[in-house]
Amino acid sequence: MNYLLKKHTIAFFILFLFISNFFISCKSQKEFVSLETTRNKAITPTKKVKNIILLVGDGMGLSQVSASQFYNKNASNFNRFPVIGLIKTSSSSDLITDSAASATAFASGIKTYNGALGVNTDSLAVKTIVEEISKIGISTGIISTSSIVHATPAAFYTHTKKRSMYEDIAAQLVSSDIDFFAGGGINYFNDRKDKRDLILELEKNGFSIDLEMLPNTTKPTVSKKQGYLLAPDAMPKMVDGRGDFLSNATHLAIESLSTNEEGFFLMVEGSQIDWGGHDNDAAYLISELIDFDNTIGVALDFAKLNGETLVIVTADHETGGFTLAEDNGDYNKIKPVFSTGGHSATMIPVFAKGPNSEDFGGIYENTAIYNKMKTLFFENNNN
Ligand SMILES: [Zn+2]
Repeated sequence: MNYLLKKHTIAFFILFLFISNFFISCKSQKEFVSLETTRNKAITPTKKVKNIILLVGDGMGLSQVSASQFYNKNASNFNRFPVIGLIKTSSSSDLITDSAASATAFASGIKTYNGALGVNTDSLAVKTIVEEISKIGISTGIISTSSIVHATPAAFYTHTKKRSMYEDIAAQLVSSDIDFFAGGGINYFNDRKDKRDLILELEKNGFSIDLEMLPNTTKPTVSKKQGYLLAPDAMPKMVDGRGDFLSNATHLAIESLSTNEEGFFLMVEGSQIDWGGHDNDAAYLISELIDFDNTIGVALDFAKLNGETLVIVTADHETGGFTLAEDNGDYNKIKPVFSTGGHSATMIPVFAKGPNSEDFGGIYENTAIYNKMKTLFFENNNN
């Protein structure tokens, strides 16, 4: 009896082991499958990034962005971004960056010294994103409300030890990979110490150049490269009647560059938000900020229809130590005030919308903007 019972117990125990093992293996199989599915989901982006529009509000910190909430009669386009991050902007030489070092971080992914454009701390040229993506057939454009040889646009096509070498920078635009540009700065192209006529040289290089105005039509000639230099130096201020230049140029650039099936990169700078900050002139700053806000709307409207365009909005640094303070104890009234005539070290917001926009959340160095953009362009190209 005892022996038989023991035998049965052993047999039952073996059967139990077998069955339970079967269930365990089924469960782990299932877990494995579901993990794989999740992983596949995580690495398969919903849509690829074909185009990137990077909008840089020079000198635009969080208080400047906040001004769009109070002073733009229309709803601010900043409200349309689902992803927000913050960048740290110190340069290699200074805790507080200038536009040149910061734009070089965006364009080439390196920290360099204040005043440097497209060169490293040893003043040696480093590749720009424009040079890299042009090689894989992507079109590129730059737009600014300063002269086109000013620090932020220049960092995307030039390599110079000093940002003030404007005539040298203009000459480098002629031999660059840029396909579309719009801004001011005629003097650096046709009123030069070396007597070169860079307007002619640009035309010889296949550019259609206009020194008067943007075309009225929104359907540009698609085959030609286009350049618009519409002021002797910087473009006029908004308060002096610049009008919708920035929005219209952005619209035109998008129409033109998006004809390339390989994709495009467009950098748009609201240059004079910075100058309003330097002047401690709130009306100047806010009018430039609202113009920039409206231009963001043009980029977002295109991206919404296109579906393969990532829009990134950020700044190189904050200018003016600008803040929206209460007015002598009246908490229902805003008094814009400044704490400096220079730049400040505050972290700068980054707004992103479109495929892979989630990559731009978090706190990181300004050089990461370049790394993230480059990865997205080259991932798309390899697939
Ligand atoms: Zn500045």
